[in-house]
Amino acid sequence: MVYFDNNSTTRVFESTIEAMRPFLIRDFANPASAIAQFGDVARAVGGQKSILARSLRADDASQFVITSGATESNNLALFGAARANPSRRHLVISSIEHPSVIEVADFLKSDGYRLDILPVSPNGIVQESELSRVLCRDTLLVSVMLANNETGVIQPLRTLADTVKKYDPGILVHTDATQALGKIPVDLSGELEDIDLLSLSAHKFHGPKGTGALFVRDAESIAPILYGGGQQNGLRPGTENPAALVGMIAALSTILASSAELLEVARLRDRLESGILALYPGAYVLGACVARLPTTSNVCLPGIEAEDFVDRLAARGIAISAGSACSYGARKPSYVALAHGMAYEQAKSCVRLSLSIESTQQEVDLCLNAFGEELGAQKCC
Ligand code: PMP
Repeated sequence: MVYFDNNSTTRVFESTIEAMRPFLIRDFANPASAIAQFGDVARAVGGQKSILARSLRADDASQFVITSGATESNNLALFGAARANPSRRHLVISSIEHPSVIEVADFLKSDGYRLDILPVSPNGIVQESELSRVLCRDTLLVSVMLANNETGVIQPLRTLADTVKKYDPGILVHTDATQALGKIPVDLSGELEDIDLLSLSAHKFHGPKGTGALFVRDAESIAPILYGGGQQNGLRPGTENPAALVGMIAALSTILASSAELLEVARLRDRLESGILALYPGAYVLGACVARLPTTSNVCLPGIEAEDFVDRLAARGIAISAGSACSYGARKPSYVALAHGMAYEQAKSCVRLSLSIESTQQEVDLCLNAFGEELGAQKCC
């Protein structure tokens, strides 16, 4: 199979599995139990969070809450902020956020919050001017993702966060960095120093599914949304999963040491893109002129029904997607494409190809062959 659906999920590295194994069969004690204090488990959990903090240049390991993935992290960020700061009742998100942000914001709106949804430019960028227009004394939180899952477009987070903090340092800034981490620098002491809350998920960078984290700069800024045994300073109770945490950090360390491989992926992605554009006159790439992840390409093929096309490629063993995996089968255009100002029919013609550091030139060639044959067949009809 040619696997160009890495924004949906990635293959777990062999080295990740090896790192996890001892914590499944040998050092399997509950990290909160007495026996764990004499073995490797409790130390491992603390040590892994320290590596995470160092990797993202955070001040302290205790600023990371380990969760079941980015959906939970995003829920904890938004609901948690709302619960900890009940006097502020205004939220701001962008129109291209993942459903795990949009749905929470919609729920809070139904609960009486005021919600502003920032549009994006035709290139997929949130405009600073749109943000400054909506900020007010009642604003609780602004949530703008670092890179979009469907287009790979990278948002000017530094500028946006700076605008928020200049207006009112008390407004929380959240970013969903799920697709960005491991592909572009994520520096909580540099570019992202004004970010209060940041979500991440291991399965997007070759770690295990069902594990992620929320970075919380100041523990007082959020309240828990789960109640139980008090683990993780009460912010996310529940028995910790050392194997999954070790796996996440092992995968992160590998991906962060792979900058040469990432450069090569960017070259492969560019070849794939120009190959498709040459095969189908009229095709164009979303966000082509702005900063994008090196791994992602979203191509509009006017006149082609994207979901049918994706199914036909899947039958040939080529995995790509139309929009995000969460919306597969909807036969509706992606809301992200529509947010770029595309017409309904064109938005239904967008396909996403997402590569990883495991992608190869041979896969690019096989994919282009399949595109050529399918697009050729379409023309004959
Ligand atoms: N945010 C973004 C940008 C994503 O791409 C995804 C995964 N599709 C999520 C959040 C949800 O992540 P998880 O699968 O870890 O819940």
